[in-house]
Amino acid sequence: MNYNKKSIEDIEVAGKRVLCRCDFNVPTKEGKITSDKRIVAALPTIQYLIAHGARVILCSHMGKPKGEWKPELSLKVVADRLSELLGKEVIMASDVAGEDSKAKAAALKDGDVMLLENTRYIKGETKNDPELSKALADLADIFVNDAFGTAHRAHSSTAGVADYLPAVSGYLVQKEVSIMGKALANPERPFVAILGGAKVSDKLNVINNLLEKVDTLIIGGGMAYTFLAAQGYSVGKSLVDNEKLDYCKEMLAKAEAKGVKLLLPVDTAIAPAFPSPIDAEVPVDYVDCTAIPADQMGLDIGPKACEVFAAAAKSAKTVVWNGPMGVFENPTLAKGTIAVAQALADSDAVTIVGGGDSAAACEQLGFANAITHISTGGGASLEFLEGLELPGIACLQDK
Ligand code: AMP
Repeated sequence: MNYNKKSIEDIEVAGKRVLCRCDFNVPTKEGKITSDKRIVAALPTIQYLIAHGARVILCSHMGKPKGEWKPELSLKVVADRLSELLGKEVIMASDVAGEDSKAKAAALKDGDVMLLENTRYIKGETKNDPELSKALADLADIFVNDAFGTAHRAHSSTAGVADYLPAVSGYLVQKEVSIMGKALANPERPFVAILGGAKVSDKLNVINNLLEKVDTLIIGGGMAYTFLAAQGYSVGKSLVDNEKLDYCKEMLAKAEAKGVKLLLPVDTAIAPAFPSPIDAEVPVDYVDCTAIPADQMGLDIGPKACEVFAAAAKSAKTVVWNGPMGVFENPTLAKGTIAVAQALADSDAVTIVGGGDSAAACEQLGFANAITHISTGGGASLEFLEGLELPGIACLQDK
């Protein structure tokens, strides 16, 4: 995939109607936004467009209305909050690309901002229906994609619309693509990837693709026990994906053939059972991974593994991290995940954290400012690491 894409700064927007796909999928409770982080993150692109005289037409999905007009998933709350943040009116359309949107888009003046209703109110959105893509395109002269979290989806408002309009990235997508794209295509070495999370089967292609690119691949989290089992160790009651043992053997062999260091945890936190509820107090012990008792379950990496993984992260020039090192929802079993987050924060390397749990961990721990880039897209960043072409990025004009 070409990562060198045009951005809003590479196209003349003055006087043009610009349809900008944002990620306004904000959490709400009883009709109120509980975190406006995503709206705040979209401001630089919107403010650039306003300042450069564009007529701004914003769109986004919220939740999963699945083609139904669910009032609790209306973007009106976003329009209200955005209006406060911008200090100017955000005109709310009452439909997605229907008569009201058309009339309001046609009446926009330079610097005006409007927001369409939830794109997923229309069934065609997630089917990338050309009829909806065309109707969206008819509202505007230029398409801007600034929603990385949905860039791995070929939907009408994320990719389909670009069949009919010149398409460029907003600042958020530009940052994701340039930092992660560079790390994958032309990384400063040593390049270390750290993967965690529950299952090997969720990250098969990520492991395979990263082995082509990295100098060191670190595997922690639930995934590690299937690798340890593939090496012939007894892992007790730990999570093991028996169907993926051969795959793990293949990956171990591939790493060796390519000269990639594949690091598994040398020690582990063990407990007799998975905590229930997940944050319940658990009796934890630490053992080497060569000595996990048959009646115990590995639930986090141990202190020796923390040191080895942290040292690898600190001596790297590029580090990519995706997935927790243990059952981090439980404070006693979060130590490995915290140690990795701390190592990234302390590292002078370009540090990139994939979305989801690892991103949340860095933010909760207050390390966000010490990390080069925390991706806003969990699924999208994983597909990026898999080396897949993301439809919402592939559709943008090359530089
Ligand atoms: P993922 O969604 O694949 O990133 O996985 C995240 C989940 O993996 C979290 O909810 C963790 O609790 C879980 N997890 C991490 N390590 C383990 C482990 N050793 N055993 C079971 N689950 C784990």
